[in-house]
Amino acid sequence: MPGILTVLEQRDGVVKRVSHEALAVARSLADELGCEVHALVIGPPGTDVDGLGQYGADKVLTSFDDELKLYQASRYGQIAAEQAMSGDYTAVILGATSLGKDLGPRIAARLGCPLTSDVTSVSGSDGVVVTRPVFAGRALYKLKITTTPSVITVRPNAFTPVSVANAGALEEVSAGEGVTASVARTVEVKAPENATLDVAEASIVVAGGRGLKEAEHFKLVEDLARALGGAVGASRAVVDAGWRPHSEQVGQTGKTVSPNLYIALGISGAIQHLAGMRTAKVIVAINKDADAPIFKVADYGIVGDLFEVVPPLTEAIIKAREG
Ligand SMILES: Cc1cc2nc3c(=O)[nH]c(=O)nc-3n(C[C@H](O)[C@H](O)[C@H](O)COP(=O)(O)OP(=O)(O)OC[C@H]3O[C@@H](n4cnc5c(N)ncnc54)[C@H](O)[C@@H]3O)c2cc1C
Repeated sequence: MPGILTVLEQRDGVVKRVSHEALAVARSLADELGCEVHALVIGPPGTDVDGLGQYGADKVLTSFDDELKLYQASRYGQIAAEQAMSGDYTAVILGATSLGKDLGPRIAARLGCPLTSDVTSVSGSDGVVVTRPVFAGRALYKLKITTTPSVITVRPNAFTPVSVANAGALEEVSAGEGVTASVARTVEVKAPENATLDVAEASIVVAGGRGLKEAEHFKLVEDLARALGGAVGASRAVVDAGWRPHSEQVGQTGKTVSPNLYIALGISGAIQHLAGMRTAKVIVAINKDADAPIFKVADYGIVGDLFEVVPPLTEAIIKAREG
C-alpha cells in the first residue's frame, strides 16, 4: 500500500514542533488517499519518539547513531532517500526549515523526483495538489503533482499539529543501517552569543523598523517581545543600518515567518517585507502614517507614535500576565 513518508527534525533528541506540523499534513493527505503515514526520525540514540502516534504517525522508522545528533547533510540525505526508495511512497514531507531546505533537495535529487518547497496547503482530493505563495506573497501558485514520489517542504507555522485520539503503540523499525559516515561531517554547531528565540520558529513576533529612529530604541521592541514571550524581528532597513543582526530580518531576503501573532512597530510594509510575514495569523501594526501599506494587511492597526503607544502597551501586558 502506498504511504506518506515524513522526515522529522530533532534537536538534542527532541522532535521539533515543525515536524508535528509536517505530520499533520501527512496525516490529512494519507486520510484522503487511504494510506499510512511513516515517520522517519534521524538522530542520536534515545531520541524521544513516544507520542508520535498522537501526532498522526502509523509507523516510526528510526535511524539512531551518536554521529547523527547534529545534521549531517550527506548522510541524512542518503538515509532519507534510501528509505523513500524502499517504500511505495506517494510523497516525502518535511518542514521548510534551514535543515529541510537543505535536506529536501538532496532527497529529491537522489530520487530524481520533483520538489515543491515552502507550501502552505496540501490536498489529496484530486491527486496531490499543493499551494505556495509566489511573487513576494502577492499570488498563490497551485500545483498538481503528477509523478510519485515527490518531495514537499511545508512552511513552518502554516499548519496546526493534530491530536489523534486513542493512538495505539507504534511499530518501530530501524532504518538507514547500511549508510555510513560521509566525507564531510558537521562537528559542532555554535549558537550566536546572547542566543534568543529564533524569529522563524516563534509563535509571537514583535518586529521593528526604521520608525524606531535609532538602534537603542529597539529596547521597546525587545521589552514588548519579552512581555509576550515572543521573538524580535526586524525590517531590512534596520538590518542594513547595522542596528540588528541579519538573523532577525523578516522578508524576501530574510526569514519567512508565519506566527500566530506578528506586531510591526514603525515598519512601512514594503512588498519585500510583506513577503516574509503576510501569512501570520494575526497582524498588528503600529505606525504614525495612516496610509502606510502595512495597514492593508493588518488585522488590527494603531495610527500613532510608537514611542507613546508601545510603553503603556507593554506595561499593560506585563500586568495582565502577572495576574
Ligand atoms: C531586492 C530587495 C529585497 C528586499 N528584502 C527585504 C526584506 O527581506 N525585508 C525587508 O524588511 N525589506 C526588504 N527590502 C527593503 C524594503 O523595500 C524596504 O526598504 C524596507 O522594508 C523598509 O523598512 P522599514 O519599513 O523599516 O523602513 P521605512 O520604509 O522607512 O518605514 C518606516 C516606517 O516607520 C513609520 N514611523 C516613523 N516614525 C514613527 C513613529 N514615531 N511611530 C510609528 N511609526 C513611525 C513611518 O511612517 C514608516 O512607515 C528589500 C528591498 C529590495 C529591493
